[in-house]
Amino acid sequence: MSKQIDYKLLPVLAAKSEPEWKRYFLKNKKKLEGMDLQVQALHTKITERTDCLRCGNCCRSLGPRITDKDVDRMAKALRMKATDVISKYLKIDEDGDTVFQTMPCPFLGDDNYCAIYESRPKACREYPHTDRKRFYQIYNLSVKNAYTCPIVYEVLQQLTVNSNL
Ligand code: SF4
Ligand code: SF4
Repeated sequence: MSKQIDYKLLPVLAAKSEPEWKRYFLKNKKKLEGMDLQVQALHTKITERTDCLRCGNCCRSLGPRITDKDVDRMAKALRMKATDVISKYLKIDEDGDTVFQTMPCPFLGDDNYCAIYESRPKACREYPHTDRKRFYQIYNLSVKNAYTCPIVYEVLQQLTVNSNL
């Protein structure tokens, strides 16, 4: 059985840790620029023991930004025309980004499986981003994501509060 934090606890837990995470960033910004390998190692360790099917919180609450290529890939998987995918599932939000019309995502099942997993948008593939290069550039975004994603919460927590790095 994988060990993971219940996403429902994150609003309280992340709010408690956020001041320490921000202090760490201010103190270690330069050091963080050379720490991608350590952050990626934490990401790997924590994702290995996390079962996203017991969570699904990103698919329930965050709207991925959807590109034209994503639309084409989804259309192929759904055997629909791209224009029909757009009119049935997508909208332009207040920032001008293409997103799903409704959240939770229309492709999220009750069992937390994604109905278009192999053809899901690039943003879904890349979430929660804690394994990307130049992590320091998305540190502040990760602080926000820690309110949603147990993986991000644990990466920040181990990096900053329990850090021996
Ligand atoms: S497309 Fe799939 S992975 Fe992306 S938000 Fe929807 S259910 Fe989640
Ligand atoms: S990526 Fe994070 S928020 Fe999304 S299902 Fe996995 S643990 Fe939950």
